[in-house]
Amino acid sequence: MIVFDLQCREAHVFEAWFSSSASFEEQKQNGHLMCPVCQSSDVAKALMAPRIGAKGNRRADSPVVNTLKPKDDAPDLRKLMATVAKAQAEALKSSQWVGRDFDRKARAMDAGEETTKSIHGQTTPDQARALIEDGIGVMPLLVPVVPPEELN
Ligand SMILES: [Zn+2]
Repeated sequence: MIVFDLQCREAHVFEAWFSSSASFEEQKQNGHLMCPVCQSSDVAKALMAPRIGAKGNRRADSPVVNTLKPKDDAPDLRKLMATVAKAQAEALKSSQWVGRDFDRKARAMDAGEETTKSIHGQTTPDQARALIEDGIGVMPLLVPVVPPEELN
């Protein structure tokens, strides 16, 4: 493995690892190199600045990427989503579906008017934002859930 300092046209500098120098050229040709900051694929090897003083401080505020996406990451992503969906379904087994009552119930539990338990349901984006602003712990579900009533 070799590491290159890369720089996009917006002058964002980042590190990327390659199996070889040829691998860098190939990924660049195929447009697989991408700036992690601005997503530009107009990326080239950065000119090496002389390293003076403490090592590693130069890029303190620059993003660091360890590996670039392999070309065939789409199937892996689907596999990952399936895993996430399964884990979520497992977690929701102990959670009660409250549908559009979610906003009211979450607030009632926060106010101590109802027993706190794990619930999931639907809110509008505005309701969700208001809940978060009010310090009520809500978490967006990673995978959309079909309301039970629609499964019947
Ligand atoms: Zn950039």
